[in-house]
Amino acid sequence: MAGKNFSKKRQMILDTIKSTKTHPSARWVYDTLKEEVPDLSLGTVYRNIALFKEQGLVLSVTTVDGEERIDGDTSPHAHFVCRECGGIYDIFCEKNTTDECPLEGFSAESAVLTYFGKCKECNKEN
Ligand SMILES: [Zn+2]
Ligand SMILES: [Zn+2]
Repeated sequence: MAGKNFSKKRQMILDTIKSTKTHPSARWVYDTLKEEVPDLSLGTVYRNIALFKEQGLVLSVTTVDGEERIDGDTSPHAHFVCRECGGIYDIFCEKNTTDECPLEGFSAESAVLTYFGKCKECNKEN
């Protein structure tokens, strides 16, 4: 019973990550599910995210303000990370995910480009 309950929580955490394009943090997932799952702990969310990463179900994008941000979309794509608002935007463009590695004798399996800067909305201000 405890095990069943645990896998139900696990599925809800994964569904929540996969249901958004915002590249959420563990805390965001926790806050989103808290009402529906009152006995959920932040530690459980962290543990499950670590497991999902191991299993290749989600990816770690980057860390913003000390919080790791998770992507439920594991297809190859690049990101733009806004340093102002913490927004993370997907970029689907072949040249941003090249697997050609300039190091001689190395064979790369994947490569992902991440831009850091100011998003459109933040550039509009002031
Ligand atoms: Zn921004
Ligand atoms: Zn993404």
